[in-house]
Amino acid sequence: MTFPVVGMVGGGQLARMTHEAGIPLGLKFKLLSDTPQDSAAQVVSEVVIGDYRDLDTLRAFARGCDVITFDHEHVPTEHLRALEADGIPVRPGSDALVHAQDKGVMRAKLTEIGAPCPRNRIVSDPADAAAFAEEAGGFPVILKTVRGGYDGKGVWVVRSETEAADPFRAGVPVLAEEKVDFVRELAANIVRSPHGQAVAYPVVESIQVDGVCDTVIAPAPELDEALTGEAQQLALRIAAELDVVGHLAVELFETRDGRILVNELAMRPHNSGHWTQDGAITSQFANHVRAVLDLPLGDPRPRAPWTVMCNVLGGDYPDMYQAYLHCMARDPQLKIHMYGKDVKPGRKVGHVNTYGDDLADVRERARHAADYLRGTITE
Ligand code: ADP
Repeated sequence: MTFPVVGMVGGGQLARMTHEAGIPLGLKFKLLSDTPQDSAAQVVSEVVIGDYRDLDTLRAFARGCDVITFDHEHVPTEHLRALEADGIPVRPGSDALVHAQDKGVMRAKLTEIGAPCPRNRIVSDPADAAAFAEEAGGFPVILKTVRGGYDGKGVWVVRSETEAADPFRAGVPVLAEEKVDFVRELAANIVRSPHGQAVAYPVVESIQVDGVCDTVIAPAPELDEALTGEAQQLALRIAAELDVVGHLAVELFETRDGRILVNELAMRPHNSGHWTQDGAITSQFANHVRAVLDLPLGDPRPRAPWTVMCNVLGGDYPDMYQAYLHCMARDPQLKIHMYGKDVKPGRKVGHVNTYGDDLADVRERARHAADYLRGTITE
């Protein structure tokens, strides 16, 4: 048997869907997961339960894997370097991944390569944050812990020096950024392989609610053609400069005066790319798997003029299966993706994809299904 074993660190839904994309290729997956109940641990046949923060656990897990890749960015950088020193292909590699792990490192590198960013610098205490605000034209400013944030946790909108105290309590370095007056958030998603082949997906619009991704529209409606090209070129250039392997999501702000600024980078399949499962010729998950194995990449082009993804968050009704009857009967083209997670209010438990020729209709169908599954509407 010559098929490679892909080692996936992290048992969340991204691992689950990456595994799913490897099945038609006959690939074998080995998973390092926190608990047997994790989303991917429920479906992958070879699961190791263990702590990714422990180097011995990682080393034992990596034995028998042909390549290691990730469902999250939280493996300590020094552990990744140790695995690389052991001769294990880690993809993306530690030198690239550190830019998705540490927002301070990311901002410094992007500034060095001339990628457009909000004005920013590391600040040492609330008084320094106030000094930054002064330099940036006054409060409010954004403060972020450089590591460990997700879904808006670890990000503060700060209006005064007093308010600037909170972010420093975690004991992690704090990055200050000008508060960008953006019209919307975009994502430029690309996939790059070790031999340097890269593909760019259409640039998408991503709509956040309470700091959590709610809706993704592919392609971003009425996005200027030149700006689309600029965003795709920027993502490809960042990937090449940082030697990224696999899927790279470049989260962007579109400003009122028609510019794009980089918000952050994710080096793994990303929520803004879930639409590709049903809306692109090759999904982000399939292309991520191809990239980490250094196989030729698949066509990233869309299958329909419009695809919309809506996340399904947990609501007050734990029985989402009951809602399938209505959703499937109402919309035979609807694609439901559930992660096998317990339904808790506000938790991402799945997403739906719809596609078609008419954006308003495609959006309405995705919105309706997500709301119905959550239980916020009943008809
Ligand atoms: P996370 O790591 O939690 O995803 P982000 O850095 O993406 O954190 O920030 C979360 C959200 O906060 C963004 O999606 C955006 O809406 C807002 N935000 C972050 N940085 C800025 C900024 N410099 N200006 C304005 N809004 C921002």
